[in-house]
Amino acid sequence: MNLEQLSLTEISKKISNHEVSSVEVTENLIRHIEKTEPALHSFITVTADLALDAARKFDEMNIKGESFLLGGVPIAIKDLLCTKNIKTTCASRMLENFVPPYTATAVEKIEQAGGIIIGKTNMDEFAMGSSTETSYFGKTRNPWDLDCVPGGSSGGSASSVAAHQAYAALGSDTGGSIRQPAAFCGIVGLKPTYGMVSRFGLIAFASSLDQVGPMTKTVEDAALLMNVLSGYDSKDSTSAQVPISDFVMPLKKNLKGMKIGVPKEFFIDGMDLEVKASIEKAITQLEQLGCTMIPVSLPHTKYSLSVYYIIAPAEASSNLGRYDGVRYGLRTPGDNLNQMYEKTRSSGFGAEVKRRIMLGTYTLSSGYYDAYYLKAMKVRRLIKSEFDQVFQKVDCLVTPTTPTPAFRFGEKTQNPLSMYLADIFTISINIAGVPAISIPCGFSKNKPIGLQLIGKPFEESTILQVAYQYEQSTLSNQLKPNLKKIEEFSKNEL
Ligand code: GLN
Repeated sequence: MNLEQLSLTEISKKISNHEVSSVEVTENLIRHIEKTEPALHSFITVTADLALDAARKFDEMNIKGESFLLGGVPIAIKDLLCTKNIKTTCASRMLENFVPPYTATAVEKIEQAGGIIIGKTNMDEFAMGSSTETSYFGKTRNPWDLDCVPGGSSGGSASSVAAHQAYAALGSDTGGSIRQPAAFCGIVGLKPTYGMVSRFGLIAFASSLDQVGPMTKTVEDAALLMNVLSGYDSKDSTSAQVPISDFVMPLKKNLKGMKIGVPKEFFIDGMDLEVKASIEKAITQLEQLGCTMIPVSLPHTKYSLSVYYIIAPAEASSNLGRYDGVRYGLRTPGDNLNQMYEKTRSSGFGAEVKRRIMLGTYTLSSGYYDAYYLKAMKVRRLIKSEFDQVFQKVDCLVTPTTPTPAFRFGEKTQNPLSMYLADIFTISINIAGVPAISIPCGFSKNKPIGLQLIGKPFEESTILQVAYQYEQSTLSNQLKPNLKKIEEFSKNEL
């Protein structure tokens, strides 16, 4: 098998056993990226030279026998995590040339664990979207079907992992941006509990919902990355002070006696029939593994989308106030200060970002604040307490990650609401702040389907364990996208 096709766990073992060097692994990956990237466009920046330098340094340390969790393995980073001396654009014209003076904690932890940064991945502008079509730098293609979107907003991270351009990637998830693209690209994506992974250096979209998390080829790789990423960070005031234990060891425990809730609100009319059938099959499989399925109800989750599209734009309108042409990024000159602000913000942001800023400014304005924002916060509390109640009866929940597989380019760009609906099954999880993982569980019209497991706060271990046992029993991640076809397409693009 080609080196790039191994999992993170497999390649890091090979490097630490000196079967292959980090430089060889990185050089091989760079060649593979060159062959596939013209078709896919997973990256905004490929940091080939920096990665090779880091790999060389790693190999020197490796000779001395030091051991590292991610020893010498190339990993991709979504382009909204700050990387010192490496451009961080948020896929926006506003930050087209922004080079941060510091590195995000999550990225720093990857580097400290021996990981090699291979590049910064494409995304929807400021993480607002579900298809990666709002990127200022152009679209990313889905490795399984080049006419389809990879999902979003972490679409570049998802396609890079699915097409073996990186052994793993970091994404961020505010309403589904790790799980939905993971589902569309047939990989594993975990959104941790709010507060589990530091947000320091993550360029903020909606601060009360944003979380950083791993996107990987296997569940074991996601657990390994959680060992690296999670933990308290004094630089993030919302970082949780909870004891962190090993996520890899408990994967092997069998599922006997596990109680899994099946919320009826996540099985809706209009859902893709093959998605429905795959989820039902997965549920049967989980029963065979010893789990007991319990029907449950989360009646207020039907308001999640409405609540999200008040809270997230409200927070975004405040967070994005900092892009004023004075301190960071783009400045478009004008005759006076106000004109400079106006011109900068008009030319720096794309249509979707402007839509969110306007929505958020409106719902926070005096006279509307109580009717919209305050009301949304109250319903958020209701949704959260419903999850708390259900979790008194069950260990975790199972649902589809998305109602349909990947859609075609342009299919939803004309109607923002239809795009927003792509996250109908992922958004309530961010509203409640609980963890959830998406894993591959079948195909619809040759495109991957995602199974979502939702856990209790800070019990990532449970959903990882269920996901692992399911994956091992079905080998659901064995099929791979057709790399030859991607390479052919790339040749025609050049
Ligand atoms: N698609 C959702 C949105 O556009 C969620 C995005 C995200 O999780 N960053 O807001």
